[in-house]
Amino acid sequence: MQVALPGGGLVDYTSKSQRVRIATEAWAESNLYCPNRNSPVLDPAAAGTPVIDFTCPKCAATYQLKSQSSAFARRIVDAAYSSMARASIEDRTPNLYALHYHLSEWTVENIILIPRVLGNREAKTARANGASRRMGGLQHSAARNPPRRKNQHRFE
Ligand SMILES: [Zn+2]
Repeated sequence: MQVALPGGGLVDYTSKSQRVRIATEAWAESNLYCPNRNSPVLDPAAAGTPVIDFTCPKCAATYQLKSQSSAFARRIVDAAYSSMARASIEDRTPNLYALHYHLSEWTVENIILIPRVLGNREAKTARANGASRRMGGLQHSAARNPPRRKNQHRFE
């Protein structure tokens, strides 16, 4: 897996957020894969597709890519919550790839995958419990329930 973000073709983009989006999407296309292990690549979704950025060409699992320049903490949980909650209303919740990039080094620092089932269940819990408790809820739940070896979750 490459850690350097691609730098080519970015001079046409004047805003930082555009350059980040173009570079991280290009990086994801070259480096991410389906965790169901049935495809070594992910296909970019058609431009303008809401919530979904990539799909698996083999199993049709969907992925959203969210990039941020700060280390993962509350913010990623917040992003996960809002996108999952919005998508779950329409039953099209994607898995979430969260990418932490280093702006001046122009590198990928970290990437995590938040599976859709976890996000979905917790999003519903969060709505019931209120916003003030949702952060701790997701983190604690993830820590309490580490992924099992058997009956491994399948990303759909
Ligand atoms: Zn797949």
